[in-house]
Amino acid sequence: MPEWSNEVPDDPRGVALPIRRTPPHGSLLAVVTSIDLVGTRTHFWQRRTMPHEKIKCEACKAGLPTRWHSYLSAWDHHTKMHFLFELTAQAAQHFVTFRKAHGTLRGCLFKASRWRQIPNGRVLIECKPFDIVSHPIPEAPDLITVLSILWNLPPDQLNNNSPNQVVDLPTDSRDPEENCTRLSFDAGKPTRAARPDALGRGKNGNDVA
Ligand SMILES: [Zn+2]
Repeated sequence: MPEWSNEVPDDPRGVALPIRRTPPHGSLLAVVTSIDLVGTRTHFWQRRTMPHEKIKCEACKAGLPTRWHSYLSAWDHHTKMHFLFELTAQAAQHFVTFRKAHGTLRGCLFKASRWRQIPNGRVLIECKPFDIVSHPIPEAPDLITVLSILWNLPPDQLNNNSPNQVVDLPTDSRDPEENCTRLSFDAGKPTRAARPDALGRGKNGNDVA
């Protein structure tokens, strides 16, 4: 006999967030919920992005190149979706600049789009602070745990701070203010869709580093 219940079980592994990337057309507007980003070398392996393994990496054995990717968690006020945002090293630099200026990524409103609106166009990121006290965002998840779930890894497999897995990107020589002076989106006046819902309990989240 089936065992019916009105209670919906939590995922025993923890929070499972979907992954989103910069769309080929239009833009993605969201607020970072994590304090920092976390990065690792990856392969495009078996038709998906997978982490490079330090030992016995099957993708390396197959001769596939690695590419560094970083991840942060973000909240889309419009769709009410909490998700992982995947970035290349080039795009991640904008967030490093923001973190150095503000001490955290949490509360960074960003707009991600592509140069010339073509699928593989260079990713453009614009950042500005967002009022998460008046407009709360979800708690930060543990990024490494969320990635481990996404990649079906044992939760502790990525959970070390070896330099090639959690990378503090060097800043580049561009003016940090340059990215924040051309903002065309309005962070101060959230629309009706931007109001917090039942998940909107913002305060300090986990530090993934
Ligand atoms: Zn590898």
